[in-house]
Amino acid sequence: MNRRTLLKAFSAGTLGAAAQLPARAQTALRGLPPLTVRDVRVILTAPNGIRLVVVKVETSEPGLYGLGCATFTQRAFAVATAVQEYLRPFLIGKDAGRIEDVWQSSFVSSYWRNGPVLNNAMSGVDMALWDIQGKRANMPVYQLLGGKCRESADVYAHASGRDFQEVADNVRKAMEQGYRYVRAQVAVPGQSTYGARGAGATPSQPGQSARPRAAWEPATYVRLAPKLFEFLRAKLGEEVELLHDVHERVTLPQAVRLCKDLEPYRLFFLEDPLPPEEIDHFRIIRQQCSTPLATGELFNNPHEFVPLISNRLIDFIRIHISQIGGLSPARKVAALGEYFGVRTAWHGPGDVSPVGHAANLALDLACYNFGIQECTGFGANTREVFPGCPEIRDGAMWAGDAPGLGVDLDEKLAAKFPAPPVRGDDGWGSTRRRDGTVIRP
Ligand code: MG
Repeated sequence: MNRRTLLKAFSAGTLGAAAQLPARAQTALRGLPPLTVRDVRVILTAPNGIRLVVVKVETSEPGLYGLGCATFTQRAFAVATAVQEYLRPFLIGKDAGRIEDVWQSSFVSSYWRNGPVLNNAMSGVDMALWDIQGKRANMPVYQLLGGKCRESADVYAHASGRDFQEVADNVRKAMEQGYRYVRAQVAVPGQSTYGARGAGATPSQPGQSARPRAAWEPATYVRLAPKLFEFLRAKLGEEVELLHDVHERVTLPQAVRLCKDLEPYRLFFLEDPLPPEEIDHFRIIRQQCSTPLATGELFNNPHEFVPLISNRLIDFIRIHISQIGGLSPARKVAALGEYFGVRTAWHGPGDVSPVGHAANLALDLACYNFGIQECTGFGANTREVFPGCPEIRDGAMWAGDAPGLGVDLDEKLAAKFPAPPVRGDDGWGSTRRRDGTVIRP
């Protein structure tokens, strides 16, 4: 069937019939040559010591490829297997322009779904297809998503310290570098604190099979954290926006108490006062205080975030976008949030590749309900391995106008930084209470 006949089908209202046509005929309708997936490859690299997983989708057009982030650093090799052994054969020959269809069909291709390994594998492919679509259209991905709502995305810096004064000094350093938003964490003396190394936290030693750690007792922390923010407000004033991550480690009554005690210090947000297994409890906190709540970096499944957003129980959604399957589902989460007053704060630690950061940034620029972006910057090796890394200046992340996601990967250089092998003690699950009970996380 030629292009003219197809256009006739359109005007006759038989679009449904056209939708059944082979990919070659469909693309002819758009006046574009057919573009299919020729190969799907995984590149594992660790230029900054953290395992990154990047998927490269090659197309039938010579030289046209896309990159996507599939980084689940704790299970990097499992994601690589999911891509190579399962998604690759499923996707070769498929229409590279049908991003949504590829996502939906991959989603059910293993029957069991919504798990972090498959979601990350799908994210690698999904972002790569958006990258390809942008390159093909000669547009940055944020343009495909509707264009810029803002010029750049404000980023928050991380500041920590062994005591209040050291935290204040580090927040001030970040402010002097242009950051207007800073996350502050202080060590609980003698304890293994999240986000700040204290006197009692022992760093891991090479060759150790079990990392000796200090214990963690949440009651001490819950009493200490409000005093930190009282100190910071007294030292730094009201202008800087302060953030804090509880990292789940407290009970529900402690979380409620902490959120209330922090109210006077006007946090930009308090993150993860509860673990994802207790999302219903956000309602209890919500009814009692006005501290803005952020959560979601551990979410994999829509059943985790849809109720929190649609019931207006949180203020910021912190999803790690490769963990829910990539840019396609994340833009739907952003759109859902817009209608319920929930702003985006995509998770952006060191275990997101620059390709993933570029995807975060595309959403930050194009979504009206952007809140804040986490990014701690890129090391020199990372910037060399990934030419086109987003730029961070004046406390914000900036995108260029290169087509696609704008980030490339030097595979030869990446091979010089192989992903480190897995050790027994380099994941989570090692922090325990004084009596030996493991905590989350
Ligand atoms: Mg966090």
